[in-house]
Amino acid sequence: MKIGIAGVAGRMGRMLAAEVQAAEGAELSGGTEAPGSPFIGADLGTLAGTSETGITVTDSAGTMIEATDVIIDFTAPQVTMAHARLAASHGTAMVIGTTGFSAEQLRELHEFGDKHVIVHAANFSVGVNLLLGLTEQAASVLGEDYDIEIVEMHHRHKVDAPSGTALAMGEAAAAGRKVNLADVSTRVRDGHTGPRPAGNIGFATLRGGGVVGEHTVMFAADGERFELTHKAADRSVFAAGAVRAAIWAGSQGPGYYSMRDVLGFS
Ligand code: NAD
Repeated sequence: MKIGIAGVAGRMGRMLAAEVQAAEGAELSGGTEAPGSPFIGADLGTLAGTSETGITVTDSAGTMIEATDVIIDFTAPQVTMAHARLAASHGTAMVIGTTGFSAEQLRELHEFGDKHVIVHAANFSVGVNLLLGLTEQAASVLGEDYDIEIVEMHHRHKVDAPSGTALAMGEAAAAGRKVNLADVSTRVRDGHTGPRPAGNIGFATLRGGGVVGEHTVMFAADGERFELTHKAADRSVFAAGAVRAAIWAGSQGPGYYSMRDVLGFS
């Protein structure tokens, strides 16, 4: 399986390049960076902190996609959308880890899944995907007298909030309650907010230091509080999951898949 990495000099990109090199049945076929990046021309192995590969970073996504069976993209929403259009025109499968898409962008990605293979997950760790299933189950069992609050913390460089994983947890909780998240969510509280509406799903966002990613969903009733927490200590868990998804994607028919599909949890 020839795998290319978009945004290969990024925090996740470097990890992904290292994971592809280490994975059985996978071969690193290229890596891209933004035009003007100082990393254009750098060896992918040097960036990944592994051995030299003889493959250098390019700013031509088209060139990389032509040489690639599956592209893994952890960049930024606009960049991923451009890559998805290009990958669709070449029939190349795509694994997307980018977060912060608008509803319109998500709709377009879903449409690509009609004809192409897309695996999209806000979080590629096995633990978080298990947490999503448990969140849905807990929300379906615990009624509206259990208030649902989702708290997340990430490093100071993160640019979107709430995190894609927190929103996926909100979606899982909403699915468990058979409601639409957009109709019941409170993403920010500030000032005189009034009492908490019944059935609401609330979010709280913390940012600081080098925290890789921590998520808790709370079910808070009058006499008890039930919490499910996941803490990622190392980005390699996301990279390993994404490479597993890329190898899986290579043998799938068209579809818009999640990591829960890859892991067989869905
Ligand atoms: P980062 O800023 O370190 O990396 C992004 C890289 O993309 C940068 O190197 C940037 O130069 C590059 N880039 C920008 N424009 C480009 C272009 N036109 N072509 C090619 N490369 C381009 O960020 P990061 O921490 O690696 O996170 C990237 C994304 O992945 C974020 O949306 C983040 O939330 C998400 N993320 C997802 C998971 C998951 O498991 N799904 C885990 C961690 C991070």
